[in-house]
Amino acid sequence: MNFQDEIKRRRTFAIISHPDAGKTTLTEKLLLFGGAIHVAGAVKSNKIKKTATSDWMEIEKQRGISVATSVMGFDYNGYKINILDTPGHQDFAEDTFRTLTAVDSVIIVIDAAKGVEAQTRKLMEVCRMRNTPVIVFINKMDREGKDPFDLLDEIEAELSIHVRPLSWPIGGGQTFKGVYNIFEHKLDLYTPSKQTITESIKFDDIHHPDLEKYIGNHTAKLREDMEIIEGVYPLFDTKPYLEGHLAPVFFGSALNNFGVKELLDCFVQIAPCPLPTQAMERVIHPEEEAFSGFIFKIHANMDPNHRSCIAFVKVCSGKFERNVNYKHVRQNKMLRFSSPTAFMAQKKEVVDEAYPGDIVGLPDTGNFKIGDSLTSGEEIHFKGLPSFSPEMFKYIENADPMKAKQLNKGIDQLMDEGVAQLFIHQNNGRKIIGTVGQLQFEVIQYRLLHEYGAQSKWEPLSLYKACWIESDDKDELENFKRRKFQYMAVDKEGRDVFLADSGYILQMAQQDFKNIRFHFSSEF
Ligand code: GDP
Repeated sequence: MNFQDEIKRRRTFAIISHPDAGKTTLTEKLLLFGGAIHVAGAVKSNKIKKTATSDWMEIEKQRGISVATSVMGFDYNGYKINILDTPGHQDFAEDTFRTLTAVDSVIIVIDAAKGVEAQTRKLMEVCRMRNTPVIVFINKMDREGKDPFDLLDEIEAELSIHVRPLSWPIGGGQTFKGVYNIFEHKLDLYTPSKQTITESIKFDDIHHPDLEKYIGNHTAKLREDMEIIEGVYPLFDTKPYLEGHLAPVFFGSALNNFGVKELLDCFVQIAPCPLPTQAMERVIHPEEEAFSGFIFKIHANMDPNHRSCIAFVKVCSGKFERNVNYKHVRQNKMLRFSSPTAFMAQKKEVVDEAYPGDIVGLPDTGNFKIGDSLTSGEEIHFKGLPSFSPEMFKYIENADPMKAKQLNKGIDQLMDEGVAQLFIHQNNGRKIIGTVGQLQFEVIQYRLLHEYGAQSKWEPLSLYKACWIESDDKDELENFKRRKFQYMAVDKEGRDVFLADSGYILQMAQQDFKNIRFHFSSEF
């Protein structure tokens, strides 16, 4: 197969959802269709349960699982599909945000009974930032849920995206009969607990009298609903979908494997193949001959005796080859990889080559940081691995005077890995760690001790937000930094950060300094 065709057949995406909506279940069914796994239950949820917060072995085990399921590749109908897994636990949301920078589209799973939930909203904001194309799968139709029209309205209102149903439920919960598949013009019938192939009957025209034979007294309602749909929603068009303005919607039940194949069949047809990537210098097109890629995730080894990691590189252009020298742009040095790995479903194996859209795991001993670029030689810096203002802050202090060096090294490396964010307070020079949730602090403390032999002490710091600030008015910026000295910090890249301890303080600052821009994410 030639290079162009290899690119065209790739679909790299993530499945995102609020915990418990059915992401793991859906992932597993997709893998079954790809023949990548043969038994249900093979995909382990990488969820870290709330109750497990103090159970360290559990967290270590979970980290092990999450490396195995980081990327799941499989072939389906001639397409090469790469599913990038995202951690379900909200304390690791930052990880999920970064993973979303490496995908070309996403599937959002929504629980039919719960509708749009907090995590769905947050993840969607990240998709909005990059206009990532989104397909919605409304799951658990076998259970009593909300009215489908209400769900569509909720999605439009809460996720700020237009929707277009491509399948439509017939009944719901106890009376769920199946869906009318608008995309393929057929009736897909649901049989409870029958987890095999769905029975489908072609119906180009839902006014055909035979329809009643299959769905009985639901017929009139379906025809009525379809009339409303055709009246309210414009015909499905791939352009607004690819631009990230329109989300096609499917209904089904992942657990019963209902509506999943239909989702996948539509997905491979309409979802984008690898897209161009914006680098600082220029736009990189996948078809370019020279290889380029960026590191979006680093996974440390669980063996504390040697610090080895896997750096995950997303191939953006050209062909990646084993044993070829590539340039590590930040360090300005050439590196060669003798055992890069690809991920096929549950296995990881050494690969000789990889194409745009693919993810390659590079064994590393601390060369890489999140966001690093790797190229055939060109000075390219990929941008856009945003940091978001953390939600929780703590001072970190050394608790063992003999191990100060270990602690600093540990903090540095864990931050490079993207475990949390580090800020240095300008007033007192103290280190502040910012996270999305409590669990991250516990993971850092544990890993510092077990991987670096460093003891740490923590002191909570009550902050509302950390905002990155900038201004075209140099004097005003200097003036601000002088006046707010006790609230100023720098991040790891040396950028100015304003630590607002309340919403009021932030509001006042914004009012008083009109020429300063306050950002809640580091990408601006
Ligand atoms: P995740 O947290 O989003 O990965 O959710 P899981 O895939 O682990 O699913 C959460 C729970 O919902 C599990 O108990 C699943 O068995 C259940 N579940 C998933 N899909 C369906 C469905 O279509 N119908 C019903 N009734 N339950 C489902």
